[in-house]
Amino acid sequence: MHYFEYKNGKLFAEDISVEDLVREYNTPLYIYSAKTLRRHFKAFDSAFEGIRHLTCYSVKANSNLCVLKLLSEMGSGMDIVSGGELFRALKAGVDPQKIVYSGVGKREHEIREAIISNILMFNVESRQELEKINQVAQELDSVARISLRINPDVDPKTHPYISTGLKKNKFGLDLEQALESYQLAKELPNIEPIGIDCHIGSQLTTIEPFIEALNRIIKFHSKLKDLGIDIRYLDLGGGLGITYDEEQPPHPVELGKAIRENLKGLDLTLILEPGRVIAGNAGILVTRVLYTKKTSSKNFIIVDAAMNDLLRPSLYGSFHRISCVHEKEGPASTADVVGPICETGDFLAQDREIREVEQNELLAVFSAGAYGFTMSSQYNSRPRGAEVIIDGDKITLARRREVYFDLVDLEDQCF
Ligand SMILES: *Cc1c(COP(=O)(O)O)cnc(C)c1O
Repeated sequence: MHYFEYKNGKLFAEDISVEDLVREYNTPLYIYSAKTLRRHFKAFDSAFEGIRHLTCYSVKANSNLCVLKLLSEMGSGMDIVSGGELFRALKAGVDPQKIVYSGVGKREHEIREAIISNILMFNVESRQELEKINQVAQELDSVARISLRINPDVDPKTHPYISTGLKKNKFGLDLEQALESYQLAKELPNIEPIGIDCHIGSQLTTIEPFIEALNRIIKFHSKLKDLGIDIRYLDLGGGLGITYDEEQPPHPVELGKAIRENLKGLDLTLILEPGRVIAGNAGILVTRVLYTKKTSSKNFIIVDAAMNDLLRPSLYGSFHRISCVHEKEGPASTADVVGPICETGDFLAQDREIREVEQNELLAVFSAGAYGFTMSSQYNSRPRGAEVIIDGDKITLARRREVYFDLVDLEDQCF
């Protein structure tokens, strides 16, 4: 459920007409709905009521400061994957004791920054990383709390690029290696192992893989107990899917219920790292039709947003619903919606049944709130678009549109 709705044939973001927003802020324009973000966070977080838990929103899904601040004010923690995301989270006012740090390639300075900030824990993905964190903690005369990320070898049945819990993926440690690393962690003087972590993939549309992973971890947890390692946190990662097209992902309540049943009797604080399910359907990307053309084999709708603005269709072949901002009757036909970038892979939709549109019409690309702006670039020297966040009738320019100067600002003039 979200707050992007048609009223009298015109698309609104909460109380504000999208057309009005475009008049003020131009296109391509990301529009987020604060009410939707709040609703999604609440629906997710309250699904785990009765279980001691901490919801750590996955910053990489949408890291705009206004979004982070809104979620932080609702009590959300954050799952970060870089020093940059730590910087953002702290800037947004997130309590460091609600921050967990994931990722396979944490650099030394990033580790240092996280220890100095006193984050809740690192999700460690290799033995060498564990040793590095110990070394940095030692230098800082500190003790770093950690989880080890387990790769439970569970097939999440999602796109291969967003499967992360299979043996062949780069993430985590398999159960055997993890056991050795926990033993090492226990010995290292500046490491305190307090949790177990996993994250098996993204855009999961069934409960089963979560529960399979959970049960493998629970089994593993009892092994650790036998070794005298006292685990207090169980981090199940993120990955709950959303509806882009026809998918029917489980409601968070179902996930909560299944976890509750399987977790029974264990004295563990659950950590969850939802990203997409919070932000995905809380944002749209609005773009303007530049030209239309028919070739002998296809219809093309050429718009002013491109793969540099929204990469998911090009990267994963993802589906995003696209409709006219001004609802209309009339004939539909099959077309590719493409951007101005000089790449064949630059498309927002392929072979899409869509109303016949004219030059200058506005199109809304739905479900663009997660992995949209955060994956954007300036490829083809295209200044990035603006982001606005709507809360009822209140408009906040969450990030101004880039200008040409932003393209060269960091470069030497070389003459
Ligand atoms: C990306 C990621 C998430 C969030 O995944 P979603 O599918 O957006 O919920 C959570 N945890 C880790 C470690 C991640 O890499």
